[in-house]
Amino acid sequence: MIYYLHMHLEVYFPLIGAISYIFIFVCGLILGSFLNAWIWRTRENIRVVSGFSMCVHCRRMLMWYEKIPLCSFLVLRGKCRTCKKFIPASYFWTELLTAVALTMVFYYHVNINTMFSEWWMMRDVFFLTCLVVIFVYDWKYQLVLSRIVWPGVIIGLAINHWALNYQLSDLLLGMVVGGGFFLIQYLISRGRWIGGGDIRLGLMMGAWLGWQLTIFALFLAYILGAIYAVILLIGKKANRNTEIPFGIFLALSTFFTLYNGRALVEWYIGLLK
Ligand SMILES: [Zn+2]
Repeated sequence: MIYYLHMHLEVYFPLIGAISYIFIFVCGLILGSFLNAWIWRTRENIRVVSGFSMCVHCRRMLMWYEKIPLCSFLVLRGKCRTCKKFIPASYFWTELLTAVALTMVFYYHVNINTMFSEWWMMRDVFFLTCLVVIFVYDWKYQLVLSRIVWPGVIIGLAINHWALNYQLSDLLLGMVVGGGFFLIQYLISRGRWIGGGDIRLGLMMGAWLGWQLTIFALFLAYILGAIYAVILLIGKKANRNTEIPFGIFLALSTFFTLYNGRALVEWYIGLLK
């Protein structure tokens, strides 16, 4: 009987795989939905533990069917049921992109990461949570949240070194490179180009990536920022004085570098030989 089951399990493997991806995707939607609520409450200074979700305009408590990620937004056509005001589309996109990103992380660890342990997945769920909040908050309110970045620095450093055996010297040097890069600009411009948030974010990138990948991620963030600026200028949506929140590009480049940086740097070093 056991033998019989074993034979059939192989037939079902693709199905089990698909179900696990759907499960992870749904977890990502729920995480994104939770982060949306957390970000809004943090901004509005409402205590997160005070329970129920509410409309961002009239503050009416939401019913369970108004809180289903993606679906509720689509069914209600992005409007509150009672006050009829539009709910920002960013709520929808945050949920969707968090789910896509979490699914990509899961795919990476199942198929690509040869050193996988549960610490990797826990670390990366934590990292993704930090990056989503940093990205969305900076996008909406032009502020890099210290209360996310500092735990990111400390927990990232601890897991990387003690659970995943990253060299402590590499991570600390990364922090010097990442933090120092922005600190120098901060000092030269006397705080006009760069805010304290970017310096802290630089420290966090160093503690997560080590010094080599931090340089790579900084470089990538500037490329992304430049592309975005050109698109804005062409579309006449901005002029030379428009300030672009740079934290969003740092968050994006950090996410990309976590999963592709090592391979790209090794490829590049191979080219030089
Ligand atoms: Zn409302």
